Amino acid sequence: MTQSTENQSVQRKAFQADVKHVLDIVIHSLYTHREIFVRELISNAADALEKLRYEKLNNAEIADPDLPLEIRVDVDEDAKTVTISDAGIGMTEDEIVENLGSIAHSGSREFIQKLRENAANDVQLIGQFGVGFYSAFMAADEVTVQTRSLRPEARGVEWRSDGAGEYTLAPAPALSRGTRITLHLREDAHEFASKDRIKTIIRQYSNFVPFPILVNGDKVNTVQAIWTRNKSDVKDEEYNEFFKFIANEFQNPSLRLHFSADAPLMIHALLFVPQDNFERMGFGKMDPGVSLYCRKVLIQEHCKAILPEWMRFVKGVVDSEDLPLNISRETMQNNALVMKLKKVVTARLIKFFAETAEKEPEKYAAFWKTFGIFIKEGVATDHEYRGDLAPLLRFESSNGAAGDLVSLADYAARTAAGQNKIYYAYGPNRAVVENSPYMETFRKHGIEVLFTYEPVDEFVLSALREFDGKDIVPVDRADLDLPEDKKEDEPESEDAGLNKDEAQTLAGWFKEVLGDRVGAVRESKRLVDSPALLVNPDAYFSTGMQRIMKSLNQGEGIKEGKDLEINPRHPIMVKLARLREQGADEDFLKTAAEQILDGALIAAGLEADPRLMLQRNYRILERALED
Ligand code: ADP
Ligand code: MG
Repeated sequence: MTQSTENQSVQRKAFQADVKHVLDIVIHSLYTHREIFVRELISNAADALEKLRYEKLNNAEIADPDLPLEIRVDVDEDAKTVTISDAGIGMTEDEIVENLGSIAHSGSREFIQKLRENAANDVQLIGQFGVGFYSAFMAADEVTVQTRSLRPEARGVEWRSDGAGEYTLAPAPALSRGTRITLHLREDAHEFASKDRIKTIIRQYSNFVPFPILVNGDKVNTVQAIWTRNKSDVKDEEYNEFFKFIANEFQNPSLRLHFSADAPLMIHALLFVPQDNFERMGFGKMDPGVSLYCRKVLIQEHCKAILPEWMRFVKGVVDSEDLPLNISRETMQNNALVMKLKKVVTARLIKFFAETAEKEPEKYAAFWKTFGIFIKEGVATDHEYRGDLAPLLRFESSNGAAGDLVSLADYAARTAAGQNKIYYAYGPNRAVVENSPYMETFRKHGIEVLFTYEPVDEFVLSALREFDGKDIVPVDRADLDLPEDKKEDEPESEDAGLNKDEAQTLAGWFKEVLGDRVGAVRESKRLVDSPALLVNPDAYFSTGMQRIMKSLNQGEGIKEGKDLEINPRHPIMVKLARLREQGADEDFLKTAAEQILDGALIAAGLEADPRLMLQRNYRILERALED
């Protein structure tokens, strides 16, 4: 380190090489997010006050013990200066050399490391960093630090630099305890000499700093960092105010989770669920609602990395002391600490929802109604949390009335012995699902079926595939294997319907008439009241999924023909078989077969050609009216 003395009192010193490197970039390349210097200097002041508070508790000997613990920011629009003062622990001469002349104790360390890793020196990327104290030089062409340590015998020092490689040190005898940093703003940074601009920046980045911040005498930060307080010390009213402030809402939150943890990470989290789902109200996709803090200092607003995307409806704050202040947005997603934090917070939220469901079912039902769609999104898209989210799902079912919700666990718990499947049906509403031919056999055997009304449910249940060891199966699966089906509980007799051979012959004829429009045609064991229905032979690609793919014009490659099951006990089938035996008008019988297929298509929620169907309908009516 070069050291030359100009006179007795002023010393000139050179910055350490790493510091020069940082300063060089700060001064010459960083133009984005310049305003973060305010955050950096205020958080340094808050750190110094925090340490002072600690010293006060543990050490009686402190200079100027009565100074208020606050942070003052003063702008001078004429002189174009910004001054940030605190009555914190201050620095001795040795400390200032160590802290501001070298990189050893600086938040700039990570920045330097990143520079080394990032050979391309991507300036945009670097621009996202906090660079600690040196960020002052983003906005200033000269910085003065006047400081006096808390120790009663310490003397004041003045540090001054233009960031060009050297700094000076001089005695400053008249100082009281603490630090005052004055920025002489660069010509292109005069905007920061505006009181309003500085206030806005402070509200954005430092609103929850636990010491009063005054800008030219006006107190700026009014909201306390209530998340670090003890739960029992915070009133509902305070929580609600806080929620409204951070979420920009007028209503109180509907759910609240406040927790702290020491392991595996130090966390204070205060999280809320609002009352309304604005996304569902057509406001477009929400930004993530949780901000990340480190010891009450904002690291990132609307942080994407802290919760999975489908949890974007959650609002609040996560604060962890273990995070570095100057972590960049880009590295956030891949930062091991952030990933760990995300795991802990996500798991805690899921547990919280599950507990709410158990202890306050009505509250949970309201939550489910408004925000269930996000849980479904999670199950459908996020395999990491799929299993954990499954117990949160709710559906109507054939066992309950309209509006009664059933969980997969409820369903699984009351299945009869031997039923190793969970069945679900889809339709636009309850009446349609309840009256569909698919429900006939389930009703007859008293087997519960979950009802789904939204296309997304298909993604959810196909993604989930099983719950509690039971396969989740749509009711139109061709290989439906209901336990009772094996028993021939209806003895075959003439008037009960067609016998095996007759049914097989009729099935063969149907296949001949319908060709590729259907896959296989066979006798149905499940139908009770309807003449026919279509079933899906594809165990992996449900009819619902196919329906969705088609609506998205992604239908290519979908096997068109479903298997047709015919009901050998149904009067229409019996009549068809008899008329064929008698050699009746083949053309008309074909018309009937086609009409039966279209009916089955509609019952399956698939498309039938309405024009052809109508024409056939009139032909059949005409014939019926002739007799
Ligand atoms: P960091 O805050 O991450 O340590 P900075 O570059 O922001 O890095 O600050 C470097 C060091 O300078 C701090 O660790 C602290 O010791 C000292 N310092 C900065 N500002 C103040 C202040 N207002 N009062 C006392 N010490 C300060
Ligand atoms: Mg700092």
